[in-house]
Amino acid sequence: MSFPASLGRTILLGASRNAWLNRQAARFGMRLGGSRFVAGERLEQFVPIARGLNADGFTLAAAILGEGVTSEAETREVVADYRTLLTAIAGEKLKATVALKLTHLGLAIDEALAETNLRELVEFASALGLFIRIDMEESWYVEPTLRIYRDLRNAGLTNVGVVLQAYLYRTLGDLDDLLPLQPNLRLVKGAYLENPEVAYPRKADVDLAYTRLIERALRGGGFCAIATHDEKAIRHSLAFASANALRSGERFEFQMLYGVRPRLQRQLLAEGYPVRIAAPYGRTWFPYFMRRLAERPANVAFVLGSVLKG
Ligand SMILES: Cc1cc2nc3c(=O)[nH]c(=O)nc-3n(C[C@H](O)[C@H](O)[C@H](O)COP(=O)(O)OP(=O)(O)OC[C@H]3O[C@@H](n4cnc5c(N)ncnc54)[C@H](O)[C@@H]3O)c2cc1C
Repeated sequence: MSFPASLGRTILLGASRNAWLNRQAARFGMRLGGSRFVAGERLEQFVPIARGLNADGFTLAAAILGEGVTSEAETREVVADYRTLLTAIAGEKLKATVALKLTHLGLAIDEALAETNLRELVEFASALGLFIRIDMEESWYVEPTLRIYRDLRNAGLTNVGVVLQAYLYRTLGDLDDLLPLQPNLRLVKGAYLENPEVAYPRKADVDLAYTRLIERALRGGGFCAIATHDEKAIRHSLAFASANALRSGERFEFQMLYGVRPRLQRQLLAEGYPVRIAAPYGRTWFPYFMRRLAERPANVAFVLGSVLKG
């Protein structure tokens, strides 16, 4: 990564945690350009977007935006909102799984609270025949997140998956530890600002670690959601899968973010590969939005353009 690009990323990821900017975003709403990456602020706006994506042939990973919740009462509201979302997915017969962040369920307050909340949702989803993916957040949450995932799997719940981030040095070891569970994993490069002591600082190293992670996970069994917009990594995965007689759908799928590289999303679908779109909605969209800007500096110009146009 060049110096200015990494500096821009640092500034944007720092801004994602700024309380004042988060309040302004809530005030000015989607006019800041959020609607390109966010499928509405409310469930009623999300459902028709989800129906449209299903009609086009995509499956979905639905998420309610929010993270870093600081009171137990707030986490109970989040659980109630996720129960409503799961009920809507089942009721509307949407082809969708659900993704959530453990800090949204209280991980920053108390690990046991987050686990209790998650277990309630995974059991509720199981009764509806639905699947829940636990997103991966900053590196200090990796250990408790994997611990909670294991607890649920050891309790016999199979409709739950987790995420591994290639930029962390620890990740291949985590993969090896998880493989005996035949896990359902989403594999990503990693979206947070991390210290060089725990994560590769250079993009070229992250890209290399990512293809290594995909190969090892595909070889290891279980199911892999290859979540990237990197066409080179996608083509590499397809070549590896074909050389090892691994079938898409059975062993892997592709996942991309709502609003990012839509042409590539459609192209893969047209080639016959399953593509799941991670589509989040909700009022606290600002940190998510800033992470998307940090991934591609050209997005900042796009946002400035929409603000200036009013
Ligand atoms: C479905 C899904 C779920 C994810 N879940 C997590 C998670 O739980 N935890 C986590 O840490 N990270 C998560 N991520 C984010 C991920 O870690 C990366 O930050 C992100 O995907 C960008 O990396 P890339 O793999 O697309 O490759 P890159 O090499 O960054 O990008 C490849 C190409 O896609 C384009 N591109 C990438 N991002 C954007 C964008 N925002 N706007 C426009 N173009 C873009 C680039 O310009 C480039 O041409 C998720 C990503 C996806 C797709």
